[in-house]
Amino acid sequence: MMTEVPDSEVPRKRTRVDVATPFSDEHAYAAAQQDEEFWEEDGTIVLIAGNVKFRVYRGLLAQHSPLFTEALSLPQPTSNSKPCPIITLHDSPEDWRHLLRLLLPRKLSKFTPSDPSFDMISAYVRLAHKYQMDELLQQWMGYLMGHFTDSFDDWTRREREFPKGMSHIHAIGVVNLARLTGFMCILLTALSVCITLRGHIVHGFTRSDGVREQLNSDDLARCFVFKEELIQANAVILLKTFSSDGSAYCDDPIGCSESRSLALGTYKDQYCAAEFAPVGLAPDWTSYEGALESRGVCDNCRRTMNDEYHSEQHAVWRRLPKMLGIEVEGWDKADY
Ligand SMILES: [Zn+2]
Repeated sequence: MMTEVPDSEVPRKRTRVDVATPFSDEHAYAAAQQDEEFWEEDGTIVLIAGNVKFRVYRGLLAQHSPLFTEALSLPQPTSNSKPCPIITLHDSPEDWRHLLRLLLPRKLSKFTPSDPSFDMISAYVRLAHKYQMDELLQQWMGYLMGHFTDSFDDWTRREREFPKGMSHIHAIGVVNLARLTGFMCILLTALSVCITLRGHIVHGFTRSDGVREQLNSDDLARCFVFKEELIQANAVILLKTFSSDGSAYCDDPIGCSESRSLALGTYKDQYCAAEFAPVGLAPDWTSYEGALESRGVCDNCRRTMNDEYHSEQHAVWRRLPKMLGIEVEGWDKADY
């Protein structure tokens, strides 16, 4: 799903990057391989990325990126051996192929990314950020915000709906995209997924263009501390919820209270650390619901406990910026 990103979310300051070399030499043009997918005979610009050249339409690029308009406004050397202006890009051909599939309308029927992979999203975001394609950047950061949300209600509702085209390990890449673009609102929930990666959090993963995605050492250290604090917080929430007074409408307060103690005792006796002190941000209530029901805790008490559990989780959610040492403007405002 796509989420509309407020205009204020778009970071205004962007590092000036060495975007491209306009009008590369003829040697680079001759040496690069013609892309099988994007070589339009009537194309009006050639892009060289790595050892691949794409021939597409300058109007299309100018429409999305002011940097291309700028580059193409410079005087161009003439040559008979080149079909049109050539720009050398300091990007991978894989990234450009992903982006061109998105931008060239007649290819869309084949490549509409209903469940885009991390590599696709990463290419869209990184290139859109670099070439100031603001609409595209908002669109795909909006997609990530739909999953790595800053809304507690959305997180507890959609937590298990991880983007279908991605694996949990890709949360590391999402953290890096948030760092690159300055969209801090997705950073806290992306880091919260990272802490569930066990040892993989250290190694990261390799993108299809060969680049290794890992957390920087500050974020890695942050995750170790955060994981410990969050497990402790989850354990406290569970203890508070199980030792609560239950519902004011309970028909058998003493019986329900005993049943709650028995259910909690089962976790302790069986060393069910995963149940007693679960890893992750705002773990689901469902697994406790079954244990309480089988012990005979009444409907009203279970409903009250569920409400209390969520309310305690929301309190932890509000503390996330402090726990992670990351300031996020407007955090926890999404639910009001
Ligand atoms: Zn009860």
